[in-house]
Amino acid sequence: MISGITLSPGLGEGNIFVYRDIMNRLDEFYDIDDAHTGQELERLELALSRISKDLRNLADRVETEIDAELSGVFHAHLAMVQDASLRIEVEQEIERELVSAGSAVRTVFRRWERRFQSIDAEVSKQKGDDMRDLTRRIVSALAGVHGHALEKMPKGSVLVANRLLPSDTVFLARNMATAALLEVGSKGSHATLFANEIGLPCVSCIPGLLETVSENSYAIVDADGAQSIINPTKSQRDTFLEKTEQKMQVNKKARSLAHKSAITKGGLKIPVLANVGDVEDTRIAIASGADGIGLYRLEQIYLSRQHPPSVAELLKEMQTTLRPAKGLPVYVRLLDIGADKQLPFIDMPKESNPSLGQRGIRFLLQYPDLLATQLDALLQLSIDFDVHILVPMVTLSSDMIAVEEALKGATFRNKQSSIPKLGAMIETPAAALAAAEISKHTSFLSFGTNDLTQYSFAADRENPSVDSYFDDAHEIIFRLIRMVHEDVPNMPLSVCGELARRSIATSKLIDCGVTSLSVAPLSIPTVKETVRNSHCA
Ligand code: PEP
Ligand code: MG
Repeated sequence: MISGITLSPGLGEGNIFVYRDIMNRLDEFYDIDDAHTGQELERLELALSRISKDLRNLADRVETEIDAELSGVFHAHLAMVQDASLRIEVEQEIERELVSAGSAVRTVFRRWERRFQSIDAEVSKQKGDDMRDLTRRIVSALAGVHGHALEKMPKGSVLVANRLLPSDTVFLARNMATAALLEVGSKGSHATLFANEIGLPCVSCIPGLLETVSENSYAIVDADGAQSIINPTKSQRDTFLEKTEQKMQVNKKARSLAHKSAITKGGLKIPVLANVGDVEDTRIAIASGADGIGLYRLEQIYLSRQHPPSVAELLKEMQTTLRPAKGLPVYVRLLDIGADKQLPFIDMPKESNPSLGQRGIRFLLQYPDLLATQLDALLQLSIDFDVHILVPMVTLSSDMIAVEEALKGATFRNKQSSIPKLGAMIETPAAALAAAEISKHTSFLSFGTNDLTQYSFAADRENPSVDSYFDDAHEIIFRLIRMVHEDVPNMPLSVCGELARRSIATSKLIDCGVTSLSVAPLSIPTVKETVRNSHCA
């Protein structure tokens, strides 16, 4: 029996699939004796020739399918792999230091990476990153691993991992895992949101998990109770199946009413919208009775690419994602990058405290081309969709004024007369306190309670050791929301953080002046039921 904390509720069972970051696979980094140098040199040769082939194919494919400039990156990687001096240095490291091919690659490539990074030129810095990427590729090839490990997880598995990063979740296809058990992961983390959004029951804060469980053992996961049983007895499994059945009955009732409006007993109609990241989310949202899309996060589009999307590419992605919601209001959030979410194609500034650094709108204002692409695409999207634009991580009204200006510029560029409505995410105490000023430049506000909690309690949402301070249902969060409502009584107020789907919070949020909720697609039926059972007037 294993226990931890619930990141995402639900019940699931299946065979365990252990996911380890390839760079942590210690079995590629070991010492050898004289007799084994030949074998390691051979393994190195094989891995390098396989990678050369992969890189050549990749470069060709990218050139025909994407663009010639990007394919240049892979040609450059290929040249590095084939660089004679680099290869000789790795071979010498194996022979002189008597270490495995993996260890030698790691040491030599790190040395080169440092050399590049010490030269203060952009091109050299990028080369340093290329070296890091290549190290990962070669070590993977030495370990016989192709592609991302999560792509190979058999359907119906219980995923066991140290932690899930946003870049990993890109590869975690929906319905592949029935549940997840993690060593680390905090309640406010983006991995938590992702788990909730795909309805993946998830328990975290299980120290030593990877050492405790073995691949292919059977696990039942009760994320509602923050527990899991590895290799359960028959009676434990029967109890679990009974619980699953009861839960299904409750959900069935909520689902049968999902397409009806949610009206409180006091007569208030509260639209319940969905948080989405891709078309599958939107499909589920609409099937689950969503009254619209309350938060479309664009990060997934950017995190899975090696180059920034053009206006046409972004527009196409957004149209595809939102198509099932055509005719309903959609709230698209500008790219919220920074902190734990890093863009693969931009050498992001190294910050000692990234959550308090350049993220959200602060980052976009530093990269006006990225902002312009999004605004152009959103304007074109608004021809066919009821588009509202959400600005992430607003601090003061100056952020909104800058976006307003950029939007005016985009409207002029696109020769469009109608401008989509603009709203601010209230995610910092400063923004909550400045709501009256901010609202002069918005048509609505949306509380991102995950970040609002992180910044109110000065508790990093990704850091499990301060989880006890991360309390998004604390009175101070409701107080901030109520205060905003009192300062701007006529402004539509939405909540799109995790708090929005908690049944204990629903009535309180409505009493604080919240006019709509936006939640993970699968939570819509139950949240609507909770609204119906509340007495708010
Ligand atoms: C939030 O902060 O509550 C929010 C909805 O945005 P994200 O979780 O994507 O930062
Ligand atoms: Mg946020």
